[in-house]
Amino acid sequence: MKIILQDRLFNFNKIKYTLKNPRVGLKLELYITLMKSFVTGLLDLLFPPICVCCDTKLVQGETLICTICFSSFPETGAHTSAENAVIDRLIGKASVTHGLALYRLRKKSLLERALFAMKYKNQPKIGELFGQQYGSILYNAPITSTIDGIVPIPLHKKN
Ligand SMILES: [Zn+2]
Repeated sequence: MKIILQDRLFNFNKIKYTLKNPRVGLKLELYITLMKSFVTGLLDLLFPPICVCCDTKLVQGETLICTICFSSFPETGAHTSAENAVIDRLIGKASVTHGLALYRLRKKSLLERALFAMKYKNQPKIGELFGQQYGSILYNAPITSTIDGIVPIPLHKKN
């Protein structure tokens, strides 16, 4: 198929052949990667990504939450003890053998800001970050060798 557009001849068969050519395809892939990197860099320069908790500019390698905020979230350590605050809250309400929670939530905290952004500012990736964080902690925890599955349970009274 040949199309003449603004005095230029576009031969789609030649373009298709060119894209299938491995040498040209690799160059094109490299060109697209460089262009994506350039556009991403330009967007980062014009609209720098900021931490959803403290509004500081994120550095390379950080996603949505800066390292300082992430490391400040208070971990419960519930995976280290069978008796903990999480299981205490579930006694009489659910038949569970272990209760685990990654963080202890306090009102007006940076963690609360992160959860608010996740729930109400369309940032579901924050949930993935927390899931990856807890997954890496639980991966080597002795408690995980005795459990068959994990079920998320809302702890708020309304839920
Ligand atoms: Zn931060």
